Amino acid sequence: MSFRYAQTEKIEAVSQVAASLVHEVRNPLTAVKGFLKLIYEAPLPREKVMQYIDISMEEIARTEAILSDYLSLSKPLSQNVEKFDLSSHLQSVVEVLMPFANMNNVVLKMEIHVNGVWINANGDKVKQALLNLIKNALEACTPNEDGLVTTKLTVQNGEAILIVSDNGVGMTKEAVERLGSIYYSTKSNGTGLGLTFSYQVIHDLEGTVKVNSVLGVGTSFIITIPLNSDIND
Ligand code: ADP
Ligand code: MG
Repeated sequence: MSFRYAQTEKIEAVSQVAASLVHEVRNPLTAVKGFLKLIYEAPLPREKVMQYIDISMEEIARTEAILSDYLSLSKPLSQNVEKFDLSSHLQSVVEVLMPFANMNNVVLKMEIHVNGVWINANGDKVKQALLNLIKNALEACTPNEDGLVTTKLTVQNGEAILIVSDNGVGMTKEAVERLGSIYYSTKSNGTGLGLTFSYQVIHDLEGTVKVNSVLGVGTSFIITIPLNSDIND
């Protein structure tokens, strides 16, 4: 994907998000306002009050998720491009997600087969892209008793190869084809923005994404990113 094309696509994606963001945020706000009004106006049994508060908290959490996904999507492209070690960025993302994995009883493993995987990119965006992918893998495992997510980093033919595998819910062929489309989500609290962002970051780096998935068995995302040739040679 050429830079110009990626940029146009990004602007389009972001303005689509901005337009519908208003609706997305207004709905939960209206719901929360309604519940507050109910609590305020009439004496209610405590369990009803608690139920309304729970629903309101969920609505607020969803709004927060939408806004933070939107912010990562709308950050300008190609700022602070630097040479960094992908293995250390992967390590810090896995650290950030470890409490989330533990909370959901999913084992999160990391295998780094080579140190000093230098790439030239915006480090924050790459971290966010990895975070979105690994978080999805963890979420795909949450119905399981024995959830396992493995992230594996190697280098081959001048490219970093990152494989994120899970033994989660898996996907049909049709679902795999929809991955990365804006707003595509099968989760009740999903935003469908996470993979749109990840795919965009990887494509901007002239990397590739391949997905192998079997419904009920699990999914692997195989990502390649060209290395920074100055440093790795
Ligand atoms: P969200 O996580 O908010 O739903 P994403 O863009 O991150 O949005 O993901 C889009 C959809 O892709 C998810 O709702 C899910 O259906 C599917 N998906 C992504 N990663 C996986 C995975 N590892 N296993 C199964 N389904 C996945
Ligand atoms: Mg996601």
